Amino acid sequence: MWKSATRSLATAALVSAPKLQDVVIIGGGPAGLSLLAALKNSHKTKHLKCTLVEGSNLDPIRDFGMDPPENYTNRVVSLTPKSVEFMQEKIGSWDFINLDRIKFYDGIRAYDGQDNSSRISFDGTTTGSGVLAAMSENINIQSSLISKIEQLNDEIIDEEEDQPAIILDNTKVIDIEDPLNAQHTHSHSDLNEIDPSAGDEALDWPIIKLDNGEALQARLLVGADGYNSPVRKFARIESRGWQYDRWGVVGTIKMQFEDYRALGWQRFLSTGPLAILPLTDDNATFVWSSTPELAELLLKVDEVIFPHLLTAAMTLEEVDLQYIYKTLQNNPNDRSVLEDISWRLSKKDISDLEENYPLPVTELVPGSRARFPLKLSHADTYMAPRIALVGDAAHTIHPLAGQGLNMGQSDVGHLVQALEKGVDRGMDIGSTLVLENYVADAWPSNHMILGACDKLHKIFAVQWTPFVYLRGFGIKTLNSLGYVKDLMVQTISGK
Ligand SMILES: Cc1cc2nc3c(=O)[nH]c(=O)nc-3n(C[C@H](O)[C@H](O)[C@H](O)COP(=O)(O)OP(=O)(O)OC[C@H]3O[C@@H](n4cnc5c(N)ncnc54)[C@H](O)[C@@H]3O)c2cc1C
Repeated sequence: MWKSATRSLATAALVSAPKLQDVVIIGGGPAGLSLLAALKNSHKTKHLKCTLVEGSNLDPIRDFGMDPPENYTNRVVSLTPKSVEFMQEKIGSWDFINLDRIKFYDGIRAYDGQDNSSRISFDGTTTGSGVLAAMSENINIQSSLISKIEQLNDEIIDEEEDQPAIILDNTKVIDIEDPLNAQHTHSHSDLNEIDPSAGDEALDWPIIKLDNGEALQARLLVGADGYNSPVRKFARIESRGWQYDRWGVVGTIKMQFEDYRALGWQRFLSTGPLAILPLTDDNATFVWSSTPELAELLLKVDEVIFPHLLTAAMTLEEVDLQYIYKTLQNNPNDRSVLEDISWRLSKKDISDLEENYPLPVTELVPGSRARFPLKLSHADTYMAPRIALVGDAAHTIHPLAGQGLNMGQSDVGHLVQALEKGVDRGMDIGSTLVLENYVADAWPSNHMILGACDKLHKIFAVQWTPFVYLRGFGIKTLNSLGYVKDLMVQTISGK
C-alpha cells in the first residue's frame, strides 16, 4: 500500500515537473520564428534545446507555402535590404520565400499634402544594389521561416547532439512563474528527474505554464509576443510611449497597369500619411494613417468608390478631400462622388499627373480592408535575468517609414550574435552578462529610429500656414542635399 503511494507520488512529480529547455520563445510572429530559425541555423547555437509557443494556429501559414491564395493578403511589409540579406545569409529562409510574390522597388516619392510641390525622393542607388526595399506579405515571410525550420529538423542525424526545434502552435501561455518566488516551487529533485544535468542552476529558470496543462522551464525566455507582451509584464520591464489616436487602414488594390517606375509613393496628409506601395504586376498595397473618424469611414466606403477615393487622396487638394469625405459621411455608397472626383482630377495638368503621382487606382480587392491602432512604445530595456525581448514586444513604431518588422529582424540578429558569443565563451546564455551585449547593440539604434519616425509624424500633422511654408522650404532644401539623403537611406535601409 505504502509502496504504491510512493510510486504514484513520484509519477505525479514527473508529470507536473516542467520540461527544461535552453530557449523558450513565446510568439510565432515574424520575430519569434526568425529567432528560432536563426538559432537552429547557426552552428554555434544549433545544439540548444529550443521550443517556440504560439497561441494561434500556424497551419494557414504552413499551407501558404504549398498553396498561396490568388490575391495578396493585406498584411504587407517593406523589407530593407539589410533584412533581406539577414534572411538570405544568416537564417537561410529566403530560399523558401515565394519570390513570385516579392516586389523589389527602386525609390520612394514623398510629398506634402498641404503643398504638392514640396517633394523629396529617396532612391536605391545609395544601397549599392539600386533597390531601396522589397515588398512582402507577412505570411510569405513566416511561411518561409517555418519551411527553413522544418528543413533543419529533417537534416538532423544525431538528436543527442543537434536538438530539433519544437513549435507548439495552438498553445497559449497562461502564466509565467519565477520559481524562486512561486508558492509551488518545484523541488530540486523534481527537476533532476527530468534532466539531471540541470543541477542547481535551473532553480531560477522561469516556468512557463501552457493552456494544455504542460509547463516548460527556460534557461532563457524570449518574449517575441507582440505589443501586449506577457513576458515583458512578467519581467516588470517598463514600456513607454503613447497612442497616436490614429489608425492604419490597409488593403490590397489594383493599379491601372504595372508601373515600370517601381516606386513607392507617400503623401503626408494632415490626417496622417497615405502610402501606396507596389506589389508584382498591377497589384499594390496601401497604408492610410487616419483619424479614428476617417478610418471608420474608409472601411465603410463602397468598394467601387474606394479606388477613386484613393487616387483623389494622392492627388487633390485637402479642401477637395474634406468635401468628398463629407459627402461620403452622409452616405458611404453615394456614387455621385465618382463624377465629382473625376471632374476635379480633370483640372490637373496631365503631364504633371503622369510624372509626379502614382497611377490611378482601379480596383480594391474585396474584403481586404482592415485597420490597426497606431502607437509608439519602447521598453526601457530588452532584458532581465533569463529574459530577452524582441520585435513588437520591445517596440512599436508608426508605420510611415515601414520599420517595425525590420527592427525586429535587427533585434534577432543582435540577440543571436550575443548568444553565439556566450556559447563560444562557455557562459550561461540566460545570464545578464550575455544579454547585456544584446541590449547595448540593439536598443540605441531602435531608439533613434523610433524618435525620427515620431518627429516626422508630428511635423506633418501641423496645418498652421507659416509652419507649412517653413516645412515646404525644409523638404525642398533636404531634397537638394544628396549626401544627407544618402545618409538617411543608409540609416533606414541598414546599408
Ligand atoms: C498598418 C501597419 C503597417 C506596417 N508596415 C510595416 C512595414 O512596411 N515594414 C515593417 O518592417 N513593419 C511594418 N509594420 C510593423 C510589423 O507588422 C510588426 O512590427 C511585426 O509584424 C511585428 O512582429 P512580431 O513578431 O514582433 O509580433 P507579432 O506579429 O505581434 O507576433 C506576436 C505573436 O505572439 C503571440 N502571442 C502573444 N501572446 C501569446 C501568449 N500568451 N501565448 C502564445 N502566443 C502568444 C501572438 O499570437 C502573435 O502571433 C506595420 C504595422 C502596421 C500596423
